[in-house]
Amino acid sequence: MGPIFQLIYLSRAKDSLSHSDIDQILESSRKRNLENQVTGILMFKDGFFLQVLEGPEVQVFETLSRIVKDRRHHHVQVQVECLSNVRTFEKWQMAFFDGDLRVSTEIDEQLQKIFKIASGAVYDEKESLVQHLKCFRGNVPKQCVKS
Ligand code: FAD
Repeated sequence: MGPIFQLIYLSRAKDSLSHSDIDQILESSRKRNLENQVTGILMFKDGFFLQVLEGPEVQVFETLSRIVKDRRHHHVQVQVECLSNVRTFEKWQMAFFDGDLRVSTEIDEQLQKIFKIASGAVYDEKESLVQHLKCFRGNVPKQCVKS
């Protein structure tokens, strides 16, 4: 397999988004992503989504083109696009982390930093976003991530 294309975007969830909306999103995402060799994680915090999509470039962009049309969120803004030799979220067809759960101070701080960097609030740190996500994946208790 060639290099892995990674894309990270931030979006605003629709106001009336429910837990069952998220469950439906995850169910269809996992099915489609398995077919498309796409892996990643979806995080939700304070009404925002942050999603990492990784896989073959064509499939990642096809997936993104469906995602941007979805009315369950809006203002989809791609923050990072890069190539990598390895997947960060290998085996996760689309993991989900609810950032509104208070798991631990350390995890909360890491997550806040990730969303801050992605939103551009921390100047010039976007290159470190993948690194922060890797750290988060290593630290978050497995039982707190739905995959
Ligand atoms: P269909 O299932 O045929 O739906 C037709 C249209 O209706 C699409 O525009 C769809 O977006 C929209 N839609 C479907 N269900 C609802 C609903 N309950 N309420 C409102 N609109 C609806 N898909 C992936 O394949 N991989 C992902 O990783 C992925 N991540 C996502 C992350 C977020 C935050 C969101 C909001 C959606 C995500 N999706 C993902 C879902 C994606 O947007 C599409 O809904 C899905 O891929 C099916 O696409 P489709 O063209 O077959 O649409």
